[in-house]
Amino acid sequence: MRFAYGRLPWRRGAVLGSALLVLVTAPAASTATERSGPAPARSVILLIGDGMGDAEITAARNYSVGAAGRLAMDTLDASGRRTTYAVDERGRPVYVTDSAAGATAWATGRRTVNGRVSKSHDTDRPMPTLLELARDRGYATGSVTTASVADATPAALTAHVTDRSCKGPADMAACPADTRAGGGEGSIAEQTVAARPDVLLGGGADHFAQTVTDGPFRGRTVTQQARAAGYQVVRDRTQLAAARPGRPVLGLFAPEYVPVEWTGPPAAPGGTAPQRCATRNPGRPAGTPDLAESTRAALDLLTARAHHRGAPGRGFFLQVEGASIDDRAHEADPCGQLGETLAFDRAVAAALDHAERHPRTLVIVTADHGHATQILPHDARPAGLSATLVTDEGGVMQLGYGTALPGETQEHTGVPVPVAARGPLADRVRGVQDNTSLFGTVTAALGLR
Ligand code: MG
Ligand code: ZN
Repeated sequence: MRFAYGRLPWRRGAVLGSALLVLVTAPAASTATERSGPAPARSVILLIGDGMGDAEITAARNYSVGAAGRLAMDTLDASGRRTTYAVDERGRPVYVTDSAAGATAWATGRRTVNGRVSKSHDTDRPMPTLLELARDRGYATGSVTTASVADATPAALTAHVTDRSCKGPADMAACPADTRAGGGEGSIAEQTVAARPDVLLGGGADHFAQTVTDGPFRGRTVTQQARAAGYQVVRDRTQLAAARPGRPVLGLFAPEYVPVEWTGPPAAPGGTAPQRCATRNPGRPAGTPDLAESTRAALDLLTARAHHRGAPGRGFFLQVEGASIDDRAHEADPCGQLGETLAFDRAVAAALDHAERHPRTLVIVTADHGHATQILPHDARPAGLSATLVTDEGGVMQLGYGTALPGETQEHTGVPVPVAARGPLADRVRGVQDNTSLFGTVTAALGLR
């Protein structure tokens, strides 16, 4: 039943190694969940703002609903902070994480080295992920992002590679051990399709258009591999709306990143004149679904798939990522960053609305790391880049970006990030949490161990 629509079990064992194979192929009837009653949660929605630290949230709140207002993500009752650090190959702390190690921490419950995707810090071995564990216990699974579906944050759920750059079959230079010739399972895109989540929505069509170079799909594109595995491949809002839950769905809405919502002048040395953001990006094709739309579509598809699958009491695990908060902060583009943070917040609202109508849904909102943004006095003269914005409530807000020299990419920061939750086991996010602890919260909520 768990493999009802043609999974490829021969791949799974090879991907994950023998130890995990024992774990994930244990018959459902023998799980702790079934011995001890239903899991606390039927479904988990994990929403990740990439690079969305407190400064990024506060800037978006100030600009839109005002300093005294509340975003959707501000309304969750239980909240705390998560550490964000990575480790080196010897396990020593590295105080600033990248998104690959950051996502690996909650996806696997283990910290790893920067750049690595759900493989161990020392031996570079695959580590089982939340999505794999949920899938193999009969939950529907999904991942939604505004980056490439093969980018680091979604990849941490569906793939195991030495380096996050190994997105498609043509991108394997940094991952010799993951090539099929090297005994591995191929690129992130190939592994993601083989992992067979029920719903995959985002950008990255370019990575899926690459030709597989080895293995059973040699000579075909990863998109063709997906179709062969039963995926409906959709490219825009209309096709997404027409997708049916009978088969899994792969949505590829852009060649790489899904185009951002807002635009405006970048931060500059010496600052900018007070300005407003342009809330319509002319570079965004009309048929491109926004993150909240994709989230609602994923929730509907996963709800239907969980229902059809008929595993009693088991709903789904869904991760939703607002990816370009980070991307725009790297570019010191305050309007792009604010628009993406607010688009992410609308996805949070969609998740909360779903949870309202579907009891026993745990909603968790957090980030992978802090970013460069600083909210400065309006008359400050920072050494780095800055921009001054006029907020919706008429305030003047100066945002500074000073973690790199002008012309260079802004850096992540090592601060703890907010985590907030509503639903079963939400209280577990209170206080200061280790960045790996979300793995335990989700596995406990869904009864995965
Ligand atoms: Mg990301
Ligand atoms: Zn980043």
